[in-house]
Amino acid sequence: MPSKLTDRTGVIFGVANKRSLAWSCAKALDAQGMRLCLTYATDRLGDGVRKLAEELNNPLVLRCDVTDPDEIDSVFVKIGDEFGHLDTVLHGVAFAKREELVGNFYHTTKDGYVLAHEVSAYSLTAVSRRALPLMEGREGTIVTLTYIGSERVVRNYNVMGIAKAALEASVRYLANDIGRHGHRVNAISAGPIRTLSASGVAGFSKILDHIEEHSPMRRNITGEEVGNTCLFLCSDMSRGITGSTIYVDSGYHIMGV
Ligand code: NAP
Repeated sequence: MPSKLTDRTGVIFGVANKRSLAWSCAKALDAQGMRLCLTYATDRLGDGVRKLAEELNNPLVLRCDVTDPDEIDSVFVKIGDEFGHLDTVLHGVAFAKREELVGNFYHTTKDGYVLAHEVSAYSLTAVSRRALPLMEGREGTIVTLTYIGSERVVRNYNVMGIAKAALEASVRYLANDIGRHGHRVNAISAGPIRTLSASGVAGFSKILDHIEEHSPMRRNITGEEVGNTCLFLCSDMSRGITGSTIYVDSGYHIMGV
């Protein structure tokens, strides 16, 4: 059993709705007593996320477009004012243009490539840097969400696969930077789950069927399973783990033919 997180605080990036993996992570951390700040990308999502937040224990809810440095700054200033310190960052943010998640990878535009990397990979570094002063002396934990399309070709995943590879490499470099201060950073490589972002990948239903047929466990994973792994990575139970990618994918990553 993970230790209770009652004296801890965390910030969650990437809640769009109740299907969001960031929301599954938020629920798991909140259930163990962590005080949370939820962030959402655009005003369009604000009412829905504030409604969801009513299910949690008195969270702070803020807007944060991770491509806007002033908005990221403002989130961490508000967290400092409200919580005084920070223990955990959950990074569950990704974006690529829908037209670049279908067909040949070589059609990726420069704009699309840069945008996918800015939102899906660089933002981890951008938020981690701002979190560090609030984590001082607290053995902070940072967790991000990735996908096997970073290391193997998944049809139509295209530029997002390249961005996820950059994200996973960022986890390793960040881990080396911050480890000496007692902080840790890890990635969860989740199997496919039907969310808003996932529905942007052409042929997503076929990917779900493929996992059901070919993964060792012959089933798809749940958001709750991702949330519980996030809880593990943010608790003292995982104190010796950093710079790692942990697979929550019904074992699919071990399969060859
Ligand atoms: P999701 O609910 O759509 O979450 C993605 C979030 O990223 C949304 O809240 C989205 O907001 C946000 N976002 C996009 N651009 C942003 C920006 N500029 N600033 C701030 N936030 C921004 O989908 P999800 O599947 O839970 O995705 C969460 C993470 O899990 C992603 O990193 C994804 O790649 C990863 N993952 C998902 C799966 C899966 O199958 N679902 C598998 C492995 C890994 P908008 O709705 O406004 O764009």
